[in-house]
Amino acid sequence: MTHNPIRPWRNIERRQSRQIMVGPVPVGGGAPITVQTMTNTPTTDVAATVRQVQAAAEAGADIVRVSVPDEPSSKALREIVRESPVPIVADIHFHYKRGIEAAEAGAACLRINPGNIGDARRVREVIAAARDHGCSMRIGVNAGSLEKHLLDKYGEPCPDAMVESGLDHIRILQDNDFHEFKISVKASDVFMATAAYMQLADATDAPLHLGITEAGGLHSGTIKSAIGLGNLLWAGVGDTVRVSLSADPVEEVRVGYEILKSLGLRHRGVNIISCPSCARQGFDVIATVAELEDRLAHIKTPMSLSIIGCVVNGPGEALMTDVGFTGGGAGHGMVYLAGKASHKMSNLAMIDHIVEEVEKRAAEIEAGAAQAAE
Ligand code: SF4
Repeated sequence: MTHNPIRPWRNIERRQSRQIMVGPVPVGGGAPITVQTMTNTPTTDVAATVRQVQAAAEAGADIVRVSVPDEPSSKALREIVRESPVPIVADIHFHYKRGIEAAEAGAACLRINPGNIGDARRVREVIAAARDHGCSMRIGVNAGSLEKHLLDKYGEPCPDAMVESGLDHIRILQDNDFHEFKISVKASDVFMATAAYMQLADATDAPLHLGITEAGGLHSGTIKSAIGLGNLLWAGVGDTVRVSLSADPVEEVRVGYEILKSLGLRHRGVNIISCPSCARQGFDVIATVAELEDRLAHIKTPMSLSIIGCVVNGPGEALMTDVGFTGGGAGHGMVYLAGKASHKMSNLAMIDHIVEEVEKRAAEIEAGAAQAAE
């Protein structure tokens, strides 16, 4: 539970799930909710894939998934794993051999549906490879690829069919005494996905990987994901998230973090509080915030910055932030440090100055945290 005794209306009581490991990263069992993304380069292009994994990790991805559709990709995976700063999940669909190869290549987790890879012997072989190489699994049910017998039974994709599919795959792993798995039940429809996840949350204690699949482009997909994942996370459901966007994987990571940050479930980087601006603004709020977002993207320390156009809301917002700037008259504004008015600054120099102040404050926070850990 994110416990906030002073503001109890901010508390989220998280569902108790079992904990599994994806490489060194714990998922479930009260561990911080992790953010994932997936590469979209050809896996066989090792250099391009590693670059994308590194960029995603730099943006905060805790785990990155890579598709392994054929044998050359399995070979490339070994090098990608070696170069990656974060654990790699191998995305396998039907080929059990790819699953075995990926486990041998050092994947931390296999995204595989045991019901789709053939007879019991093949399933046993994949599970044995995963066990031998300390590899966990993710069952990935998708409304768009449900088993035919479930579509016949239910008539169309629906939450009941998705949960039944998930529980069928779970049973196969459990019958083989394999319990290191998480599960997702994704749909592009937010109602269907949310209902399926809520049902699944009651039916199993496995950690849940959340996602609204094929959510769309950066703008519409972000909104759809925030509604779907936001509802679930707010209800305490979900242990790891992947936002699926037709956009750069780095954007998926940023959106995933923003969703978690807005619910107080993870904190990373500068949380910018800014006003929409209006005729009262003492400087160009929109352009300033856009530039600051860019210039402060490298800061990983959780902290807050308020950028407010005028004194109507500026001092009030600055009270609660580490650094603040409020527009004033005559081309100047007020800089706030730790909630207190500190000094005036010209609008022309304020962006460079705010970047410096934020970097200084981040260094202070880090030094304080290091001291407390000693
Ligand atoms: S804080 Fe000032 S500039 Fe910003 S929207 Fe409100 S009144 Fe307008």
